[in-house]
Amino acid sequence: MLITIKTKARTEMIDITAQVRNVVQTSGIRNGLVHVFSLHTTGAVTINENADPAVKTDILNTINRVIPWDDNFKHMEGNSAAHIKVSLFGPSEIIALEDGSLVLGTWQGIFFCEFDGPRNRHVNVKILADPRSL
Ligand code: ZN
Repeated sequence: MLITIKTKARTEMIDITAQVRNVVQTSGIRNGLVHVFSLHTTGAVTINENADPAVKTDILNTINRVIPWDDNFKHMEGNSAAHIKVSLFGPSEIIALEDGSLVLGTWQGIFFCEFDGPRNRHVNVKILADPRSL
């Protein structure tokens, strides 16, 4: 099932944990693995702290410093920084599903990482049911 995300900035982390939980609850599946996958080459998925918003700011400030927007890249579209960031972060995460709940730590949230926004984005959520629990 697809999650739609409307991003508002060039670089941004958006907490999509509630949307992923919603897909899980709608599925009725209670045990298995949940695959969360960005369908974009300039937008990633990561898991990190969702309690203090300063963590997002620090991550984005650091990644923008390490990979500046303009660094004499060759890619004609002009967004190589975004492509590189996605390859570092990765397009997906897998979260265990136990008794209907995502197995996440107290401070962990699932984020869509926009690296070339603002755009309309899609993240696919696929749930693999544990056959032993069916
Ligand atoms: Zn490009």
